[in-house]
Amino acid sequence: MAELLASGGTVEMARVVLDTGADAVYVGAKGWSRRRAQYEMSDDEVIASARYARSRGKILRVAFNTLPASGEIPLLLAKAAKFVREGVRDFILTDVGAMRALKDRFPETVIHASIGCTIVNAEDARFYKEAGATQVVTECRMDREEMRKIREEVGVGVEVLVHATTCYTYLGRCTMSSYTRQEWRFDDEGKNHFLGSPNRGGLCYRVCMTEWDQIGEDGSVEAGRVVLPNLAYFLVDDIPDLIDLGVTTIKIQGREYSVPLVGRMVRFYRDLIDSYLRDRSSFRMEPWKERMAEIVSARDSERRDKTAALISESGLPA
Ligand code: SF4
Repeated sequence: MAELLASGGTVEMARVVLDTGADAVYVGAKGWSRRRAQYEMSDDEVIASARYARSRGKILRVAFNTLPASGEIPLLLAKAAKFVREGVRDFILTDVGAMRALKDRFPETVIHASIGCTIVNAEDARFYKEAGATQVVTECRMDREEMRKIREEVGVGVEVLVHATTCYTYLGRCTMSSYTRQEWRFDDEGKNHFLGSPNRGGLCYRVCMTEWDQIGEDGSVEAGRVVLPNLAYFLVDDIPDLIDLGVTTIKIQGREYSVPLVGRMVRFYRDLIDSYLRDRSSFRMEPWKERMAEIVSARDSERRDKTAALISESGLPA
């Protein structure tokens, strides 16, 4: 049966998503997971949340989905070792070298190749399997046939993001923010943080969502107020098909949203999945779409505020 995976941006959120119906929760190790520190967890918080998940018969996954420099790999492995000693077994990574190093050091770990790996076909999935991944997050636009091939021919689990926001590039491949904040700093553990780069321990300031001028070769403005597409992305309609296809994990993003909203999202997806599994033949999507519209509206409102604050922090005009 497909697992429901949801975000744990704080200890409280991790508990709420597990209590409202997620089978697994993902959390970010502080400094290593493409989010602001307030939505990541200290080592002690990761360990406490993992214990809570285990006490409920559920799973906690730790995201290390930034791209480390060579000198940072030993730091990543040391942090992972601390979690493994405390019973954490599941990790989410993007960097293929870090994945290989983690799997070599801890062969018993379960590694998910993250959305940032941009896995668009079965050969990509095979490559990550050879690097140690047991499960791959498929690129958002992947069709069912490709997912089937990955599951059946490559033999890795398929994880599908059903509730997120896309970027105008493939997720994880945009570098726009890094041009707006170019400072860096080392933290107490020796990890370097490039403040404008979510791939390197900094942040995405959502600068695509401000208005841009398109400047021609002669310096004149060819087009004003250009906004790059960055659309909300919900695959509610597809969930029955994904379950029938045998995907391993259905994932919803949301570490930066409020705990009550994330709890509502998890409850919604839990109920929908259970309702479909109870009686596939008479399942109807319409009522779920109405309920979803309310969640989307609350989510959009929270996201608008966060986006305005991030753009303002970047120093660009909103
Ligand atoms: S700047 Fe926009 S497109 Fe780039 S990573 Fe951030 S949200 Fe995505």
